[in-house]
Amino acid sequence: MRLKNVPGSREAIAQSRFVIHDPQEHKGKWEEVFGRSAPLHIEIGMGKGRFLMELAALHPEIDYIGIEKYSSVLLRAIQKMEENELPNVRFIRMDAEELTEVFGTGEADRIYLNFSDPWPKDRHAKRRLPSRQFLDRYARILKPEGTIEFKTDNRALFDFALGELEPAGWHAEEVTFDLHVDERLMQENVMTEYEERFSSAGNPICKYIIRRIGPEA
Ligand code: SAM
Repeated sequence: MRLKNVPGSREAIAQSRFVIHDPQEHKGKWEEVFGRSAPLHIEIGMGKGRFLMELAALHPEIDYIGIEKYSSVLLRAIQKMEENELPNVRFIRMDAEELTEVFGTGEADRIYLNFSDPWPKDRHAKRRLPSRQFLDRYARILKPEGTIEFKTDNRALFDFALGELEPAGWHAEEVTFDLHVDERLMQENVMTEYEERFSSAGNPICKYIIRRIGPEA
């Protein structure tokens, strides 16, 4: 998602109390930001933040961080938070490549990737958020039993993502190629903006939930 540059978005972000401006300073001590000890879930590439904020309202016992690369998109999420403030949500404007500079080893419990950019050219494969390069970064910041949940309507990206699991040391606990007909997985499903758009256009939604392969595997 890349919205037209919104004049003043950088300034609005710089002044927002919902945005963490110096995220590296909090590495290993995100509990201090929320003022409590709670599970930490991160969404990477959250767009306008609909999914994250709906989830956070449903789960006040969990702390959520939304990461977004572009100011113009993040601004929309900030505006939503101003209308309906949630104490368990913070945002960071950054590129996910810097994740390990911002989160300590084993600091997070779950990572969500929703409708990540496909980067279709082979030479850009390592920029894809479910690539093995990113899985290695996620492994460093997640607890050993931490999980990643990925949804997309892009079948080529999903097939690529499944192929990355074993070489990177992960295994799938759940895989579906048509989430919206899976009653069990749909029970707790929170729709993202892209999911709403693509599923109403008739596209099946793929999803996996993955965990690291343990030493016993
Ligand atoms: N997750 C939302 C949804 O499902 O509606 C938005 C999906 S949109 C296609 C992908 C979003 O990920 C965009 O807003 C984009 O700016 C962001 N993004 C892509 N690569 C990123 C990266 N490396 N770090 C942070 N955000 C990224």
